[in-house]
Amino acid sequence: MPNPVRAAAEAIKPWLVETRRAIHMQPELGYEEHETARRVAAALAEWGLEVRTGIARTGVVGVLRTGRPGPTLGIRADMDALPIEEANDVPYRSRAAGKMHACGHDAHTAMLLGAARLLAQNPQWLEGCGGSVKFIFQPAEEGRAGGRLMVEEGVLEDPRVDLAIAAHVLPSLPAGTVGTRSGPVLAASDKFNIKVRGKGSHAAQPHLSRDPILVAAHIITALQAIVSRNVEPFDAAVVSVTRLEAGTAYNIIPEEASLMGTLRTHRAETRQALKRRMEETIRGVASAFGAEAAFEFIPGYPPLVNSAQATGLIERAARGVLGEEKVVEMPLSMGGEDFAYIALERPAAMFRVGVRNEARGIVHGLHSNRFDLDEDALPVGSAVFAQAACAFLRDPRAFGV
Ligand SMILES: [Zn+2]
Ligand SMILES: [Zn+2]
Repeated sequence: MPNPVRAAAEAIKPWLVETRRAIHMQPELGYEEHETARRVAAALAEWGLEVRTGIARTGVVGVLRTGRPGPTLGIRADMDALPIEEANDVPYRSRAAGKMHACGHDAHTAMLLGAARLLAQNPQWLEGCGGSVKFIFQPAEEGRAGGRLMVEEGVLEDPRVDLAIAAHVLPSLPAGTVGTRSGPVLAASDKFNIKVRGKGSHAAQPHLSRDPILVAAHIITALQAIVSRNVEPFDAAVVSVTRLEAGTAYNIIPEEASLMGTLRTHRAETRQALKRRMEETIRGVASAFGAEAAFEFIPGYPPLVNSAQATGLIERAARGVLGEEKVVEMPLSMGGEDFAYIALERPAAMFRVGVRNEARGIVHGLHSNRFDLDEDALPVGSAVFAQAACAFLRDPRAFGV
């Protein structure tokens, strides 16, 4: 017998597709999600949810109450698009020049709206349960920490969220599958700038210089030894120098060189240790060459660590909706995700929704101008969210609440 939540999700698939395409055609960048937020708020209100708007500027929250006391499950989606020109020739192509939903946040928003609709229109699923489901639609996930602002503005209170889940589409997983994993799953994504100050000279008189370009080259090389010689082999970390700038002419050794790049780590301890090793390495190398170096570290999103309880909830829901064999181990990523700010405050987990369909050429990666997704995944995401809400409110103690 098919799972009733899945069957109900499949029945609203045309609406899910229409909603995702409407959002896809009108992509909005971080903190500019006015039209998307309006659409989300209108839909939630139509189904009788308690709606709050203007949280973290353009964020929206919907609360579905059973009317009986009990815990609250938070489910979060992100709404922002990316500054990329879409290269797909599809009827629902982006109508906004230079903007595109290339990270699937249009699908996340549609899936979460679908879950709200399913739960609002099938009150019998929550019969006898207490508590609430809080639907969190956040702005500005792409680099501008909308999730952190939502937390700062109290999204986890009133009613207090006890456990939170979220999903992100993944083009390397086939549509119809879901990936889960407990522990660290996405990376801290920090940025850094390095300024090397040497001494300029005529290029034919290098003995009069402290060549900052040579120093920068040694720094880049030495930075690549930090991960290989300081990180435990089964931990994960990346140091990438992504920009090097110095000099003006063939015959001048310049005064300065500047570098920038990113540090990615899965564990807070590794993150702190590597930040320290980077600083020591950069200063040490510069001083060996008689130059000076300034190191600026710009903290990004923290690592996302999935809690065992929240992962257990997702696994139970996904197996119920899809069957055991469609729930696979989630691949690790060194990408960043600002759901990490919610996960710092509450037991939380993110799962992956497969969207790949090779037969239809849907294979392109996140942030690609050719990214697209198999819309068969939309009811899957909605059904896992709705089933998780039912499972959680029915037996919160099974998930440590
Ligand atoms: Zn993204
Ligand atoms: Zn994303």
